[in-house]
Amino acid sequence: MSKIKLQFPDDSVKEFDQGTTVLEVAKSISTSLGKKAVAGKVNGILVDIDSAIKQDGKIEILSQDDNEDSLITLRNTASLVFGAAASEVKKNLHFGEKQSNDDGFYVDTDDKDGQISVDELEDIEKAMEKIIKKNDKIERTLMDKSDLVEMFKDDPYKSSLINAIEAVQIPVYKLDNFVDFGYQAVLPSLSGLKHFKLLSVAGAYWQGKSSNPMLQRIYGTAFFNQDDLDADMKRRAEIKERDHRTLGRDLDLFFVDPEVGAGLPYWMPNGATIRRVIERYIIDKEVAWGYQHVYTPILMNLNAYKTSGHWQHYREDMFPPMDMGDGEMLELRPMNCPSHIQIYKHHIRSYRELPVRIAELGMMHRYEKSGALSGLQRVREMTLNDGHTFVALDQIQEEFKRTLQLMVEVYKDFDITDYSFRLSYRDPANTEKYFDDDEMWNRSQSMLKGAMDDLGLDYYEAEGEAAFYGPKLDVQTKTALGNDETLSTIQLDFMQPEQFKLTYVGSDGEEHRPVMIHRGIVSTMERFIAYLIEMYKGAFPTWLAPLQVKIIPVNQEIHGEYAKNLLSELRAKNIRAEIDDRDEKMNYKIRDAQTMKVPYTVVVGDQEMADATVSVRKYGEDNSNSENVAMFVGSVEADINNFSRR
Ligand code: ATP
Ligand code: ZN
Repeated sequence: MSKIKLQFPDDSVKEFDQGTTVLEVAKSISTSLGKKAVAGKVNGILVDIDSAIKQDGKIEILSQDDNEDSLITLRNTASLVFGAAASEVKKNLHFGEKQSNDDGFYVDTDDKDGQISVDELEDIEKAMEKIIKKNDKIERTLMDKSDLVEMFKDDPYKSSLINAIEAVQIPVYKLDNFVDFGYQAVLPSLSGLKHFKLLSVAGAYWQGKSSNPMLQRIYGTAFFNQDDLDADMKRRAEIKERDHRTLGRDLDLFFVDPEVGAGLPYWMPNGATIRRVIERYIIDKEVAWGYQHVYTPILMNLNAYKTSGHWQHYREDMFPPMDMGDGEMLELRPMNCPSHIQIYKHHIRSYRELPVRIAELGMMHRYEKSGALSGLQRVREMTLNDGHTFVALDQIQEEFKRTLQLMVEVYKDFDITDYSFRLSYRDPANTEKYFDDDEMWNRSQSMLKGAMDDLGLDYYEAEGEAAFYGPKLDVQTKTALGNDETLSTIQLDFMQPEQFKLTYVGSDGEEHRPVMIHRGIVSTMERFIAYLIEMYKGAFPTWLAPLQVKIIPVNQEIHGEYAKNLLSELRAKNIRAEIDDRDEKMNYKIRDAQTMKVPYTVVVGDQEMADATVSVRKYGEDNSNSENVAMFVGSVEADINNFSRR
């Protein structure tokens, strides 16, 4: 029998008979490794423990506590058992794509008789436990692709998945009556699968295309021990608690309904209040920093976007133009730059005016892919805290620095501390996305980098993340789900001033070309508020809270009048207050105010009326204090003002 040479992670090399299995290799090292082994990695590819090794190569034996690959093997096993159990519970179930990864596993399912619901997950979990208890062997065979095609010929999903496989022989797994493929590796025995959980159900298009049917994606996870599973469940609960979509619903801030328009958010009064406070704050701030705020239309003649280059480089993200029938083509704007350029161009500009800073809370529309949409974080209609500064060449550095200062000041007011700077460059190979002018790119990219180095700020660089017209400094933050998202952005642009032939009259009396700096300080209202909801876990500081004071009379008839007077006093100071006069128990009302995360809950009863006081409980505190009315109103006012002026 011919021999093969296998190299181990410690670089030692041993000889084995050709066709030796991973398990045999493990046993040859030690009996205990043979017992512990769950799978192997041969030349970097995850394989089953009983797969035969045919050629020389590198080998790694994976045991339970090893790493991500062992967990993937475990989760593949859970996924297979899920398939067997689910097809017992739902007789007409079809399966689409599936995946196991470091976060868990998912399986796409389809049942024309009625999709799997969250309530059915428990039944399926029980069926999984039964299968594991029986501890049947998972049979693994290598099948010819043509036989597999024949076997699944009536299943359109499986047929399509098989056709996408290049190999002629495919490992097929059989557990009871359930037959499937595409697992890479599963555990040698079902007894290793003890700690697992089915987590949730979500819609997912077949192969991720929105023109395809919607399937049900079932998420689950599995671990080698209960402690790890418990810790993961706790982590997931915390994420859920912070998720802005959950909080947005519970605190009645906003909703998005795909039936009325995917990615088109509706702001409820509570969310609208937060937004209004932020809008007023940022406008005031920018005016103080020398910006001129304007209003411009969200519709523009398509020609403007041809001149700007959006139509050539950004068309995929734009809504289709509206043909007005008389030769005019109108476009919903995806960016505000061409609009602000019109404002700049409306007057002859002199060097004395520069930098000209034009700003607007500009509504824009972008046709984001449906799979990318997420609550308020990624939407199709958004309002950007946009600004465009027109500067002379020698003012770039100073203006860039100033914009950063403004940003840092704003972040302080909101208590945002967890962010990093990313310098976003073009991908030189992608000439379709990026405006083609090497000199312009090199110059602007090195200018941005130079400015950051001069300021001594830490940053990392990312190719292919620039805007089509120029490089950016992006401020990156993390969402509750752990995704990286851009919040603020400062961008350098030599291109659009050129395309639109912008000029200013220099001290020499000649016409010169300005440079544009695009910047969004608090990003879009949508993404910023999504971020804040998650950062504050829904407990907004007083200046931003939709409702700042909730007044609860102990007895509506006796204390109602006193409560009303207090309400008037608070409202006279522009404090957002409300009386809870519902026919409910007092404790229920107090709990409700806590659930809605209202900063101040005030109870008024006999004692308070007699003493001209209020009983105040601050959000997150267990005790309430008795305070004189005037002092209380004054302290809420101070709380509101302090924060926004820090
Ligand atoms: P992204 O890379 O996040 O898609 P972008 O690079 O296309 O964004 P810009 O054109 O620089 O974004 O837009 C300015 C800012 O608007 C971004 O930094 C981001 O904070 C925000 N933003 C962009 N797209 C969306 C969206 N679909 N929903 C909500 N906010 C968005
Ligand atoms: Zn712009």
